[in-house]
Amino acid sequence: MKIGGLQKLTLIDYPGKVAATVFTVGCNFFCPFCHNPDLVLLKKSEQYPFLSEEQFFWWLEKKLGLLDGVCISGGEPTIHKDLPDFIKEIKSLGFIVKLDTNGSNPEMLEYLIKNNLIDYVAMDIKAPINKYSKFYRLATNVAAIKKSVNLICQLADYEFRTTVIPDFHKKRDFTEIGEWLMGSNKYVLQQFRPEKTLDPAFADVRPYSDEELKSFCEGLKPYFKKCEVRL
Ligand code: SF4
Repeated sequence: MKIGGLQKLTLIDYPGKVAATVFTVGCNFFCPFCHNPDLVLLKKSEQYPFLSEEQFFWWLEKKLGLLDGVCISGGEPTIHKDLPDFIKEIKSLGFIVKLDTNGSNPEMLEYLIKNNLIDYVAMDIKAPINKYSKFYRLATNVAAIKKSVNLICQLADYEFRTTVIPDFHKKRDFTEIGEWLMGSNKYVLQQFRPEKTLDPAFADVRPYSDEELKSFCEGLKPYFKKCEVRL
């Protein structure tokens, strides 16, 4: 696994758990507002101070009893063919695993789910399904996104989430997202932090206010078992 970063402790990334987050390098999307450009842009990520798998597992072994689990984030972890083996090794040490994904690789997700390799999935919902292609510079396989949503909905523990960008997301988009994902477990509206973005122009975008996000959330509550704002 190409590891681009490690957050040694997080009380936020894995809901209800004490965890570490490991960041994989590379992504097949090109979201202009991405806040991890160094992981996404391969030229930049090559300069990253990679942590080897050996170093990562040497560190992780010492965390048994201190951490509940490991979040695997990116970039996009499912582009890596060795993801199942990487997770198997984490689980063999006794940790639970949360996966962050953009939902573009349902085949990988299906394999991981069938083999009980993931305990929690957080899938980014970039837009209402009919607007995905419009939002990205690379063509998106909408069928793959739909399939991933259907697979994830079979899990006991998961969330869908959207980082809310004023230039992209209007109030009516959330109604469309609610109708698409109606009845699912949990939907989270995440506040956009325009600090470092893949497209530098997005660093100047003014986010919705926290109050506006909370008001979108109120409107979405009837569609989900749980709907919340992550500020
Ligand atoms: S926001 Fe996520 S899916 Fe989009 S480019 Fe960044 S890592 Fe990839």
